[in-house]
Amino acid sequence: MTEAPAAARGAPIPLSPPHLTGREGAALQAVLESGWVAPAGPAIAAFEDAVAAATGFPHVLATASGTAALHLAYRVLGIGPGDEVWAPGFTFVATVAPAVQMGAVPRFLDVEPGSWTLDADLLRRELAAAARRGRLPRCVVPVDIYGQAADLDAILAACGRWGVPVLSDSAEGLGATIRGRHAGRGARLAAFSFNGNKIVTAGGGGALASDDPVLIARARHLASHAKDPAPHYQHSETGHAYGMSSLLAAVGAAQLAALPQRVARRRAVFARYAEALADLPGLAFMPEAPWGRATRWLSAVLVDPARFGAGPEALRLALAAAGAESRPVWKPLPAQPVFRDAPRAGGAVAESLFAAGLCLPSGSGMTEAEQERVIAAIRGACRA
Ligand SMILES: *Cc1c(COP(=O)(O)O)cnc(C)c1O
Repeated sequence: MTEAPAAARGAPIPLSPPHLTGREGAALQAVLESGWVAPAGPAIAAFEDAVAAATGFPHVLATASGTAALHLAYRVLGIGPGDEVWAPGFTFVATVAPAVQMGAVPRFLDVEPGSWTLDADLLRRELAAAARRGRLPRCVVPVDIYGQAADLDAILAACGRWGVPVLSDSAEGLGATIRGRHAGRGARLAAFSFNGNKIVTAGGGGALASDDPVLIARARHLASHAKDPAPHYQHSETGHAYGMSSLLAAVGAAQLAALPQRVARRRAVFARYAEALADLPGLAFMPEAPWGRATRWLSAVLVDPARFGAGPEALRLALAAAGAESRPVWKPLPAQPVFRDAPRAGGAVAESLFAAGLCLPSGSGMTEAEQERVIAAIRGACRA
């Protein structure tokens, strides 16, 4: 197939590009003029305060990435070789990658169809069975998916019974709520991401948050090479270079100020897709769980080829031909070659989501005309 010329298609429509506020440049300039460009100083503190204000977590550490925040969380929780770390199979690899690199064994649990997040009933049963075997996980890691919070209350109740700590991978959950509070609140630790494709960005970066100041102080120590208090360089253990740059912190704080508007716009994008495509057979949009308010960071849809007349891959190619980027939903981690031998419980729901799911262009900066182009391409792909 020959590609249509870019002019005929219009400008490319990426899946989830950064959406600048116009205030990032001045924020950067101010940090440069202050001279504080290291991973310490007032811009970092201001960013950490902004994350605390946005999420309600009292203690926050700015990190170089969401993955770095997760790695520090696993260190703070004392994860070691052979420990089991339980996570939903339907997520990005970074949820468990640092724990795996520390020698932990990931065990993947299925998600539930009403939210696409960790199945808390399955978790409850699996924890009871693990307790009978005398082999409880060292931690459980629920994941907020595509801007939808996992049911942390049910998960905390299940884990609390056995004293298993909960680390919330809230990298996709910034701005989402669960029963009126921010996603991740209540977990021992929560990790956030400010990568370029997330709902707001620092141009790369993350944050680790907790109610416990001791955990964040320990993470802060590890994030800067675990230096003992001494005039010379002294180390009783090894750490990481995981601090966020002051320059990126300034960008991140400027972006965080726009988080409520970004959430409103992402939700409006989702609502427009749902409304404009409601008459097409064989499309089912990601449900919103009853316990919270999703941000709709990504607008995800399930495609039934028998009714829509085309499958998710044909739809992806049709969108690409129209200059719009879409992407299959997460390929389940138990189906990844690297985890083929990992233990698991269930997984049929995650597999069915992967077989049918597609993430549509979802950027908060997408214009209405651009979204109409995407909608027209989806309507054109329907062969029902
Ligand atoms: C983006 C993401 C991460 C990693 O965040 P980075 O800032 O890219 O390191 C971790 N988990 C999930 C679920 C994510 O979507």
